[in-house]
Amino acid sequence: MKFLCDEMLGTLAKWLRILGYDTEYVKDRDDEELLRIAREEGRIIITRDKLLAKKAGNALYLNEISLEKQIASVLEHFNLKIDEDKLLSRCTICNEIVIPIEKEKVKEKVPENAWKSHDKFWICPKCGKIYWIGSHWKNMKERIENIRRLP
Ligand SMILES: [Zn+2]
Repeated sequence: MKFLCDEMLGTLAKWLRILGYDTEYVKDRDDEELLRIAREEGRIIITRDKLLAKKAGNALYLNEISLEKQIASVLEHFNLKIDEDKLLSRCTICNEIVIPIEKEKVKEKVPENAWKSHDKFWICPKCGKIYWIGSHWKNMKERIENIRRLP
Protein backbone atom coordinates (compact mmCIF):
# COMPACT_ATOMS: atom_id res chain seq x y z
CA MET A 1 0.00 0.00 0.00
CA LYS A 2 1.45 3.33 -1.09
CA PHE A 3 0.38 6.77 0.02
CA LEU A 4 0.55 10.35 -1.06
CA CYS A 5 0.10 12.98 1.64
CA ASP A 6 -1.00 16.48 0.76
CA GLU A 7 1.03 19.45 1.88
CA MET A 8 -0.85 19.89 5.15
CA LEU A 9 0.22 16.42 6.27
CA GLY A 10 4.01 16.59 6.22
CA THR A 11 4.46 15.24 9.73
CA LEU A 12 2.08 12.37 9.06
CA ALA A 13 4.05 11.54 5.89
CA LYS A 14 7.25 11.37 7.93
CA TRP A 15 5.60 9.03 10.42
CA LEU A 16 4.20 6.74 7.76
CA ARG A 17 7.76 6.44 6.46
CA ILE A 18 8.98 5.63 9.97
CA LEU A 19 6.38 2.86 10.03
CA GLY A 20 7.81 1.58 6.75
CA TYR A 21 5.13 2.74 4.31
CA ASP A 22 6.06 4.10 0.92
CA THR A 23 4.74 7.64 1.29
CA GLU A 24 5.15 10.51 -1.11
CA TYR A 25 4.77 14.05 0.14
CA VAL A 26 4.27 16.85 -2.30
CA LYS A 27 4.18 20.57 -1.81
CA ASP A 28 3.08 23.47 -3.98
CA ARG A 29 1.20 21.38 -6.51
CA ASP A 30 -2.37 21.83 -7.64
CA ASP A 31 -5.03 19.18 -7.22
CA GLU A 32 -4.77 17.97 -10.80
CA GLU A 33 -1.09 17.26 -10.42
CA LEU A 34 -1.62 15.46 -7.10
CA LEU A 35 -4.27 13.31 -8.72
CA ARG A 36 -1.99 12.55 -11.66
CA ILE A 37 0.90 11.49 -9.39
CA ALA A 38 -1.42 9.29 -7.33
CA ARG A 39 -2.83 7.66 -10.44
CA GLU A 40 0.53 7.09 -12.12
CA GLU A 41 2.23 5.73 -9.04
CA GLY A 42 -0.77 3.83 -7.66
CA ARG A 43 -0.91 5.86 -4.45
CA ILE A 44 -3.79 6.49 -2.11
CA ILE A 45 -4.18 10.18 -1.34
CA ILE A 46 -4.39 11.19 2.31
CA THR A 47 -5.65 14.72 2.61
CA ARG A 48 -7.27 17.32 4.82
CA ASP A 49 -9.05 18.70 1.77
CA LYS A 50 -12.54 17.27 1.45
CA LEU A 51 -12.93 18.32 -2.14
CA LEU A 52 -9.66 16.71 -3.18
CA ALA A 53 -10.64 13.48 -1.44
CA LYS A 54 -13.89 13.50 -3.34
CA LYS A 55 -12.18 14.09 -6.67
CA ALA A 56 -9.65 11.33 -6.04
CA GLY A 57 -12.13 8.65 -5.10
CA ASN A 58 -9.37 6.43 -3.77
CA ALA A 59 -8.48 8.70 -0.87
CA LEU A 60 -8.70 9.15 2.85
CA TYR A 61 -9.99 12.44 4.17
CA LEU A 62 -8.64 13.28 7.62
CA ASN A 63 -10.20 15.89 9.84
CA GLU A 64 -8.05 15.10 12.87
CA ILE A 65 -5.53 17.72 13.89
CA SER A 66 -3.41 15.69 16.29
CA LEU A 67 -0.69 13.54 14.81
CA GLU A 68 -1.48 10.57 17.04
CA LYS A 69 -5.09 10.56 15.92
CA GLN A 70 -4.11 10.97 12.28
CA ILE A 71 -1.85 7.93 12.47
CA ALA A 72 -4.51 5.95 14.31
CA SER A 73 -7.06 6.85 11.62
CA VAL A 74 -4.80 5.74 8.80
CA LEU A 75 -4.00 2.44 10.51
CA GLU A 76 -7.64 1.81 11.29
CA HIS A 77 -9.00 2.84 7.91
CA PHE A 78 -6.65 0.60 5.96
CA ASN A 79 -6.59 -2.11 8.60
CA LEU A 80 -2.82 -1.86 9.00
CA LYS A 81 -0.67 -3.18 11.79
CA ILE A 82 2.57 -1.78 13.07
CA ASP A 83 5.26 -4.15 11.86
CA GLU A 84 8.29 -3.63 14.05
CA ASP A 85 10.60 -5.18 11.45
CA LYS A 86 9.62 -2.40 9.08
CA LEU A 87 10.24 0.42 11.52
CA LEU A 88 13.07 2.61 10.33
CA SER A 89 13.35 0.95 6.94
CA ARG A 90 12.80 4.18 5.04
CA CYS A 91 14.45 7.55 5.09
CA THR A 92 12.12 9.97 6.83
CA ILE A 93 13.23 12.79 4.56
CA CYS A 94 13.15 11.29 1.08
CA ASN A 95 11.24 7.99 1.39
CA GLU A 96 14.14 5.90 0.04
CA ILE A 97 14.80 2.46 1.51
CA VAL A 98 17.81 2.78 3.81
CA ILE A 99 20.70 0.34 3.51
CA PRO A 100 23.06 -1.03 6.16
CA ILE A 101 26.44 0.64 6.40
CA GLU A 102 29.57 -0.55 8.21
CA LYS A 103 30.17 0.99 11.57
CA GLU A 104 33.69 2.10 10.64
CA LYS A 105 32.38 4.18 7.77
CA VAL A 106 30.11 6.35 9.87
CA LYS A 107 32.53 7.22 12.65
CA GLU A 108 32.99 10.82 11.52
CA LYS A 109 29.34 11.27 10.66
CA VAL A 110 27.46 10.44 13.85
CA PRO A 111 27.75 11.77 17.41
CA GLU A 112 30.52 10.07 19.35
CA ASN A 113 28.25 8.57 21.99
CA ALA A 114 25.93 7.14 19.33
CA TRP A 115 28.91 5.57 17.58
CA LYS A 116 30.21 4.10 20.81
CA SER A 117 26.94 2.62 21.98
CA HIS A 118 25.59 1.20 18.70
CA ASP A 119 26.81 -1.38 16.20
CA LYS A 120 24.19 -1.18 13.49
CA PHE A 121 23.83 1.80 11.22
CA TRP A 122 21.88 2.48 8.05
CA ILE A 123 22.29 5.13 5.41
CA CYS A 124 19.89 6.71 2.96
CA PRO A 125 21.35 6.22 -0.53
CA LYS A 126 19.75 9.43 -1.70
CA CYS A 127 20.39 12.08 0.95
CA GLY A 128 23.08 10.33 3.01
CA LYS A 129 21.26 10.63 6.33
CA ILE A 130 22.48 8.03 8.79
CA TYR A 131 20.12 6.13 11.08
CA TRP A 132 20.62 4.06 14.16
CA ILE A 133 18.21 2.76 16.75
CA GLY A 134 18.90 5.22 19.52
CA SER A 135 16.81 6.77 22.23
CA HIS A 136 14.92 8.91 19.72
CA TRP A 137 13.47 5.74 18.20
CA LYS A 138 12.57 4.40 21.59
CA ASN A 139 10.61 7.57 22.22
CA MET A 140 8.86 7.09 18.93
CA LYS A 141 8.05 3.51 19.76
CA GLU A 142 6.42 4.72 22.94
CA ARG A 143 4.40 7.24 20.99
CA ILE A 144 3.33 4.53 18.58
CA GLU A 145 2.28 2.36 21.46
CA ASN A 146 0.26 5.25 22.84
CA ILE A 147 -1.46 5.53 19.50
CA ARG A 148 -2.34 1.87 19.64
CA ARG A 149 -3.97 2.39 22.99
CA LEU A 150 -6.28 5.09 21.66
CA PRO A 151 -9.90 4.00 21.65
ZN1 LIG B 1 17.12 10.32 2.50
